[in-house]
Amino acid sequence: MAKRLEIVKIGDPVLRKRCRQVINVNDTVRELLDSMILTMRKAHGVGLAAPQVGVPKRMIVVETPEGLYEFVNPELVRGEGSEIATEGCLSVPGQVGEVERYARVCVTGLDREGKQIWLDSSGLLCRALQHEMDHLDGVLFVDKAKEIRQTAVPEGEERFLRVVFAGTPDFALPSLYSILVEGHDICLVITRPDKPAGRGMKMSIPAVKRFALNHRLPLCQPEQLRSEELVRQIAELQPDVLVVVAYGKLIPEEITRLPRLGAINLHPSLLPRYRGAAPIQRAIINGDTVTGVSVIQLSPRMDAGDIILQKDIEITLEDDYGSLSNKLAALGAEALCEALQKMAAGEVSLTPQDESQVTVAPPIKPEDELIRWSEGSSNIVNLVRALSPSPGAYTWRKGKKLKIFKMEHAPDVTMDGRPGELRTVGQRLLIRASDGWVAPKIVQPEGGRKMSSEEYLRGHPVNNGELVGEV
Ligand code: ZN
Repeated sequence: MAKRLEIVKIGDPVLRKRCRQVINVNDTVRELLDSMILTMRKAHGVGLAAPQVGVPKRMIVVETPEGLYEFVNPELVRGEGSEIATEGCLSVPGQVGEVERYARVCVTGLDREGKQIWLDSSGLLCRALQHEMDHLDGVLFVDKAKEIRQTAVPEGEERFLRVVFAGTPDFALPSLYSILVEGHDICLVITRPDKPAGRGMKMSIPAVKRFALNHRLPLCQPEQLRSEELVRQIAELQPDVLVVVAYGKLIPEEITRLPRLGAINLHPSLLPRYRGAAPIQRAIINGDTVTGVSVIQLSPRMDAGDIILQKDIEITLEDDYGSLSNKLAALGAEALCEALQKMAAGEVSLTPQDESQVTVAPPIKPEDELIRWSEGSSNIVNLVRALSPSPGAYTWRKGKKLKIFKMEHAPDVTMDGRPGELRTVGQRLLIRASDGWVAPKIVQPEGGRKMSSEEYLRGHPVNNGELVGEV
């Protein structure tokens, strides 16, 4: 059984030893790896080396959003480039410093079955691998760091919850990763089944499934949530809480009432505004300048549960659906972890939603994607933002679909025109809305790829006065 181990601190001689090679990758080694993973997660660490738990053997674990990595007898095959960034260490609490490392490394070593593996890495993973491998030679980051600074050491007793997580797309990943590195025990991940997608109808794997596999989390993909077997499986895990982030289907009450502290849901809007399937897109379509996330109790009525906490964020004119989703996913992860801390401490206060302020955010239907040039330019620019990078707003040109992914107002163009009229001024493509001109920047002709409007114009010249429109 994996258990949480004590992390030894700077000053302990074991941290200064050159660690021994592991001769045999056996059950003892695997159990130590499991305990190192548990210890790293509970301590909110990115990596851990065996000497840090008092075992002078060449073993490391590292966990980043990309996945969970374990190496027995790791060796640097090659390193390239260099990068300076801030580092800390679980064995050197209260200090951080700037350390220069290779920007890319290739590492080889043995996996938990004793098989040789290779890993190319960059970014945080690359840095963490080098930091942990240093530990195996008795080297600490403070030996290499410049500008060492003091940081606050978190105090107070931490409480960890047993969490069942239900989610499906990319939007759920920051939440799942944050809950994991907060040290909560994720005892089950529930995600939607694989489904055929794209032109070749190849099976597409939900982002949450890929994450769960990369981080070795227990996973299930039930076709049906109303199954006695699933209810029994969850009950046996004795979870404290069920966390739902964009699962994609209503979760029945026989499941939500199983956890001791109930079930909570992250919704990307400031409820009671924008209940429903497309809150991010609808906020942009409506030209809102502020939105946010809500953590609520799961209720049988969609998005109607009592509010645990909310955080707001500005919507900038540069935001589109893609960028705003990413921001809300990160903000939501923060809000969820705060809510879990409150639940663990028994400090939750619930605020019922004001039913008089409810607005709805229905899903985007194919007819919503068609640009209506008789509308004002602000509405049209907002629609393009709300549907970018997917599925894309479109217009018809010469019987073919022309999708527009990025578009700007053109207040400097003052000539008259009819709604839907095309013009080019130099290299610039212009289309007339009811109240002025707009300039598409990124477009995609039917059957083609995304391109700049300049490139599009080279292959598809415009007759000034030509109309695009609704058929
Ligand atoms: Zn360290």
